[in-house]
Amino acid sequence: MLLNLKKMVQTLSIINIQIIYFSPIFKLLCALKLDMESDWGSTKFVVEQFSKWYRNNAKTIPAPTEIKLREFAFLTFEGRTMFRHISFKDEVVLHRYLIDNAPANSYHSSSYYKHPDYDMNEKGWIGADLVFDIDADHFNLPCQTEHDKWLCRNCGKTGVGKPPELCECGKAQFQTETWLCEKCLQAAKNETQKLLDILIQDFGFTTKNDLVVNFSGNRGYHVHVRNKNVRYFDQSSRREIVDYILGTGIKPEYIGFNPKGHGGRSILGDEGWRGRVGKALYDFVDDSSSETIKSLNLSRTLTQNLINKKSEFLIALQNNHPSFILKKFAGRDEERIITDLDTILKIAIKQQSADIDTVVTTDIHRLIRLPNTLHGKTGWQTQTINPENISDYDPFTNAIVFKGEEVKLFVRWAPKIRIGDTTYGEYNEEKVTLPLAVAIFLLCKKGARVIN
Ligand SMILES: [Zn+2]
Ligand SMILES: [Zn+2]
Repeated sequence: MLLNLKKMVQTLSIINIQIIYFSPIFKLLCALKLDMESDWGSTKFVVEQFSKWYRNNAKTIPAPTEIKLREFAFLTFEGRTMFRHISFKDEVVLHRYLIDNAPANSYHSSSYYKHPDYDMNEKGWIGADLVFDIDADHFNLPCQTEHDKWLCRNCGKTGVGKPPELCECGKAQFQTETWLCEKCLQAAKNETQKLLDILIQDFGFTTKNDLVVNFSGNRGYHVHVRNKNVRYFDQSSRREIVDYILGTGIKPEYIGFNPKGHGGRSILGDEGWRGRVGKALYDFVDDSSSETIKSLNLSRTLTQNLINKKSEFLIALQNNHPSFILKKFAGRDEERIITDLDTILKIAIKQQSADIDTVVTTDIHRLIRLPNTLHGKTGWQTQTINPENISDYDPFTNAIVFKGEEVKLFVRWAPKIRIGDTTYGEYNEEKVTLPLAVAIFLLCKKGARVIN
């Protein structure tokens, strides 16, 4: 695509017809041409830094378990082709490859294959780890309008945050610029913690034997489940696990909210989704203002009870079965009760489920980032972290690996970013001298270029 555009820019430069000269597409192509010529990201400099880092640190990168059965894949800074169907007999050969090639991005298969270096349909699939991807790219967060931008390649329209599904011009050809901030990474971490809770409490996996948690090096976290019981699961079995984690298909009556029920004990201490929904409901009502409750458009009786008898409701939730709570607080209109329950249940499930990328988990041939390698879009390290210490993990400090002399840059635009204890930026069309770690980040994000 980019090569074609480059060709078009060259052709248009030669023809120089007036109509084309003033058209938005011409301006856009010229901007792209300028971008290409200016080398935003100073690729050569970044490649040199990555090479140096791999020369000194490749040996600290552990091979994935059962390395001989894994496929490896790599992306370089220069091209867009993925080098894949690569296999290594041991860690030493893997390290040699990393040193010789200093890839922009490194991946391994979550799958185990008899012949990992053969073409896809001849590899001989044996099994695959169960993997989960949590990425702030998939969230809708207010901070994204502060640091993400898009440009329509067709008409030149620009905007902030996520691009729309279709541009006003009817096309969906967007160029995006995505950054990150503390808020997106905290949101990704929260989702990862919820996922770990479900995997540990409901599935019985242990942090010691089964779970590997990695910071992705950019906007998220990956969780790998390495347990022989899940290794041979096909796509539909993995889909069942996804549905469970998302709380898909839970109906109020499954967790005791049945207007015809005859009581029993509270669901608050129950295991699985019953207890989880009970807790979410408790927290939601406890934290909600009258305005929030009113905005749900529940029945008048339930709305008034949740506002005026809030503490009575919370005590009842702690001590009584949901069917008792319905009788006491939700009025008599059974049909209305069901609608109201659906509204509340959706909120409770959203709060307690983990926002995973479902495609990644159900794909049994997935390539996933090789832990402890560098991420080409940030220059940060993809890091394996102890799941028990995830709440203390700070990617803005821990994942920063470049140390060296300061670098002079021209920054076209970059939002505020904290690296370690210092916050840098925002920068806008200016010359700055920055520590190597910050410079690498801005360069990998293509927001700057090195100057002399
Ligand atoms: Zn457009
Ligand atoms: Zn953010």
